[in-house]
Amino acid sequence: MIEGAISRISGPVILAESMRGSRMYDVVRVGEKSLAGEVIRLDGENAVIQVYEDTSGLKAGEPVINTGIPLSVELGPGLISSIYDGVQRPLSVLAELSGSFISRGISVPGLDRAKKWEFVPLVKAGDPVTGGDVIGTVQEFHIEHRIMVPPGSSGTVREIHGGNFTVEETVCTLGDGTELRMMQTWPVRKERPYKKKLDPEVPLLTGQRVFDSLFPLTKGGTAMIPGGFGTGKTVSEQTLAKWADARIIVYIGCGERGNEMTDVLTEFPELVDPRTDLPLIQRTIMVANTSNMPVAAREASIYTGITMGEYYRDMGYDVALMADSTSRWGEALREVSGRLEEMPGEEGYPAYLATRLAAFYERAGRVMCLGNREDTGSVTIVGAVSPPGGDFSEPITQNTLRIAGTFWALDTSLANRRHFPSVNWIKSYSLYLESLKEWYTNNVAPDWMEIRDQTMYLLQKEIELLEIVQLVGPDALPESEKLILEVTRMIREDFLQQSAYSDVDSYCPLDKQYWMLKIIHTFHREASGKMGQGITLKQVMGIPERSEISRMKDVADSARLQVLTGAIAERMKTLEVQH
Ligand code: ADP
Ligand code: MG
Repeated sequence: MIEGAISRISGPVILAESMRGSRMYDVVRVGEKSLAGEVIRLDGENAVIQVYEDTSGLKAGEPVINTGIPLSVELGPGLISSIYDGVQRPLSVLAELSGSFISRGISVPGLDRAKKWEFVPLVKAGDPVTGGDVIGTVQEFHIEHRIMVPPGSSGTVREIHGGNFTVEETVCTLGDGTELRMMQTWPVRKERPYKKKLDPEVPLLTGQRVFDSLFPLTKGGTAMIPGGFGTGKTVSEQTLAKWADARIIVYIGCGERGNEMTDVLTEFPELVDPRTDLPLIQRTIMVANTSNMPVAAREASIYTGITMGEYYRDMGYDVALMADSTSRWGEALREVSGRLEEMPGEEGYPAYLATRLAAFYERAGRVMCLGNREDTGSVTIVGAVSPPGGDFSEPITQNTLRIAGTFWALDTSLANRRHFPSVNWIKSYSLYLESLKEWYTNNVAPDWMEIRDQTMYLLQKEIELLEIVQLVGPDALPESEKLILEVTRMIREDFLQQSAYSDVDSYCPLDKQYWMLKIIHTFHREASGKMGQGITLKQVMGIPERSEISRMKDVADSARLQVLTGAIAERMKTLEVQH
């Protein structure tokens, strides 16, 4: 065992001497209190260590012990519905989040050691198995938790037993004597292996119209949500955690205020999944490293979260990971780098900021699972980004922009006008549209892409028209363009705006999204046809069905919207030219 001593302390970073033999990212125990830390730089006999706990009171000369193990997480039954800190210590009491946290130096295992789980074997003695193969299952709420051979192990099953076991007990022994337990550990900075990456072709539906219909995300894709203070990043992440159609949600609260996390924690246990009627907490793992907790642990929280996500992906599930906010992680990197006196890059961030961010987002993906099986799984990453002053030119936004497949730009002026979600429809984009076209065409409607493109076209046209109106006044516009302004108002107010707090509307099924857009486009098409025959804008805007358009959000049944589409077309036919 390597045992050195503290020679210098600088906030969350310490320098330790006599650490020869240490490796990068080894976990160390720092000081008399045995605080958790990680080696982040080696320099001859000296090791630089970032400490995941409050370092106040540490003194030079106190011991530093290298455990020889890289920072790892425990993976096995019991993760779901758990709430962890950045280094996977369970935060079982809510109060710990808003007030103090776990006392320093305490090491608590991530998985309960006493709890017994019923293990049902799927293989038998004599069967050959390899890394990734499923040897049995455990029921974890409604999730079938698949116990897998750890990557790298293989052999022939010598013995396997069903029954009740703790996560540490041996359930299966291989021919060479390797003992398999329900728990495995994995170094968090290392991506878990898979057979191969697959193209994204299935959407990750969110029930949010502006996301699903205009800027869709895929299962295994990456999205970023940048936005200034108060634009709705946290509400968006929480809404996604509630409604995204993934089997498992990993929610990382990284460096944000504790009360936001408390909101999630108090609300979640009461929420029910609209698709399954099961409590949402039973598919969720939370990692909370709030602003009052040590900064260095923010990085650990990000890696801990993604590794747990990959583990459920490896079982063959779709996982969605929300990180709020990746900027706080970037700021922690900046602080640590500053203390290391590294050559600063842009705005003081370390030069490796871009590669760190990229390496994290690259762990998203849809994959063919490891092992002798045909399962696929995915991890989708949605990262909130908090640019100071809402200025998207800053380094974290810019570097994430190069990686993320979906860009949901939140807009301060929309938020100020109470247009929520405040997603700016001109700045936002999805690179997945082409690869999702087939899915939407087959699963929603053949004209989905056409209607979506037409919606975007009108929203862009609106900007042009509003500029003209500003210059020369509304009367300069021909009637057909005044109609466009009425239609885009409908798109904005009756379609894009969606309150996260509405009982009916906080979740909008995809077929309803389609019919809502279809109604607006039917109105536009029929009205322009009529106006070509001399009917006035006032007449088309006066049809009684218009008030139903403004109430369509609250219609739960999309069949009724289908009827409304027909009714609008019929009503328009009855309009006559007035002389
Ligand atoms: P941020 O995390 O970007 O600082 P929040 O997510 O906390 O901002 O949102 C700030 C406020 O904006 C919320 O408290 C809420 O009032 C409002 N808001 C944001 N998104 C929505 C939404 N989809 N529906 C209704 N209100 C919203
Ligand atoms: Mg927030």
